[in-house]
Amino acid sequence: MSALLPRHRAHDYAALMAGWQSVADKAGLHAVTLGMADHLPILVFESTASAQGQPAVYLSAGVHGDEAAPPWALLEWAQANTSLLRREAFILSPCLNPIGLICNTRVNHRGEDINRRFHITRDPLIKAWQRFLKGRQLSLGLCLHEDYDAQGCYVYELGPERGNLCEPAMTAVEAHLPRDLRRKIEGRTATRGIIRRRAIPADIHGPEAIVLHQFGCPVTLTFETPSEFALDTRVQAQRRFIDASLEHIAGIRA
Ligand SMILES: [Zn+2]
Repeated sequence: MSALLPRHRAHDYAALMAGWQSVADKAGLHAVTLGMADHLPILVFESTASAQGQPAVYLSAGVHGDEAAPPWALLEWAQANTSLLRREAFILSPCLNPIGLICNTRVNHRGEDINRRFHITRDPLIKAWQRFLKGRQLSLGLCLHEDYDAQGCYVYELGPERGNLCEPAMTAVEAHLPRDLRRKIEGRTATRGIIRRRAIPADIHGPEAIVLHQFGCPVTLTFETPSEFALDTRVQAQRRFIDASLEHIAGIRA
């Protein structure tokens, strides 16, 4: 990182994790260390209901370090929902890429794109992630991301062939940010910001959402906000997407 660039608070991993420690105390979350990135611990959190074996909602942010809104949106959402976290089954992955967040890079401290590696069990972090998830039932997976090229919000939906799962959540998000209305997004056919994956693309290996689906999670969504828009607006759109997906897909209301 250039010494000339001030370290923006959005890239302050210590502050992010201090926030999570406070949420964990209030919500009775169990912290599990998956590994280290240089000297920094990589943590996931689990609610008591998930630890007791109830099917859990999996929420993940911070896989790509240059996508600042999702980690802060997930923290804000958790801070506002500690009683829900006490009551329902959740697994929360706040930031698997601490050095990427600090340095504002997509890749991790080894120069790897983690979101192409969730299937690689020789990777110590992925091995620990897979071991943690093994035997846990998931009801819904939300992987929160951002896209530099996006013209609005969009979502990859991986789930049952029938259904219009993301429409209510995308409508809710429009209060904060428009949808990306391009017909083709990242080379995939999109309809009003929704990319439905009926089959797992043969040319893509190892995204978190796809591996979660392969692990038996019936619906996994990868939500993307446009990273050229204002940070606070993106944070609010991400929070709204979490709330609306929980309500309309998982049937969980705050
Ligand atoms: Zn991303």
